[in-house]
Amino acid sequence: MTSKLLGGCFCGAVRYEAAGLASAIGYCHCGTCRKTHSAPFIATALTPFEEFSWTKGRDFVTYIETSPGKHRYFCPACGTHMMAEYPAAKRRLLRVGSIESPLPRPAAVHIWTSEKAPYFDFCDDLPKLSEGLPPAD
Ligand SMILES: [Zn+2]
Ligand SMILES: [Zn+2]
Repeated sequence: MTSKLLGGCFCGAVRYEAAGLASAIGYCHCGTCRKTHSAPFIATALTPFEEFSWTKGRDFVTYIETSPGKHRYFCPACGTHMMAEYPAAKRRLLRVGSIESPLPRPAAVHIWTSEKAPYFDFCDDLPKLSEGLPPAD
């Protein structure tokens, strides 16, 4: 079901290891993802909270709290976003673009389409949710 995933930032200063994916991969169109990544949307998926670790740059990687209790971790040297977490809820999301291991499945859903960029037009038939990812399956 799950296999270990390795990833990191563009410059190589920060690397991580995660247990696998714990949800569908979703394309997130929320305004905060769009702004923090400077992109029309990003790919994201839940990962088991307790089985994530920074394997390089643990004391270097930093985060921004973009909403109360939500920490978005990124490399302060190259800017790559890799993970977001809600520590209180023990909920953790990988930024799929930072994963270097083969992925177990393709993206399956668009999320937060209520905040979609006006310049982006959908070009697939994936389900479109106005808000966030459904609970982990
Ligand atoms: Zn970096
Ligand atoms: Zn988002």
